[in-house]
Amino acid sequence: MTESDVLSVFRQSGALLEGHFRLSSGLHSPGYLQCALVLQHPRHAEALGAALGGLVRALGVQTVMSPALGGVVIGQEVGRALGVRAIFAERQDGALTLRRGFALDPGEKVLIVEDVVTTGGSTRETMDVARAAGATVVGACAVVDRSGGKQGLDVPFHALLPMSVETYSPEACPLCAKGLAVSKPGSRTPKT
Ligand SMILES: [Zn+2]
Repeated sequence: MTESDVLSVFRQSGALLEGHFRLSSGLHSPGYLQCALVLQHPRHAEALGAALGGLVRALGVQTVMSPALGGVVIGQEVGRALGVRAIFAERQDGALTLRRGFALDPGEKVLIVEDVVTTGGSTRETMDVARAAGATVVGACAVVDRSGGKQGLDVPFHALLPMSVETYSPEACPLCAKGLAVSKPGSRTPKT
């Protein structure tokens, strides 16, 4: 899939939102890609997973690992594309943790899969969980890279769609300065 193929899937799915959003990183933004609206369609999820799988095939991935909830669906599809298992870490008392009997072997080659990377924070946290379990993180990937190349990961990183939508700290946000109400992405889901 080319970047414009991916973008057109987002448009078709009503997943390009405009307004004033508070991202999970705490930053504010005038635009947001709601990946879940794309991934709700299994054929789109499968196609995006196959495209990501193609980008990371050379890494020799043995297990795909995602942070819940955002990374779970695309992680499953990347696992399908690579023919490996897909597990996820989830928050317990605020910290990402492997639960449900999920385990990693020492040296197991793990790929971290996300829907959207903005600061890289949740990717790094998921990498920490894998490394703490003794696994080797061989790479990370996401459908959308909003970091502008600043995710700062210490492993190879691939994304299908680089998307540099402006982000602002709340103190410096021009939309806040105009008095516009800020919403969390997903709280005003367009009807499609
Ligand atoms: Zn704002």
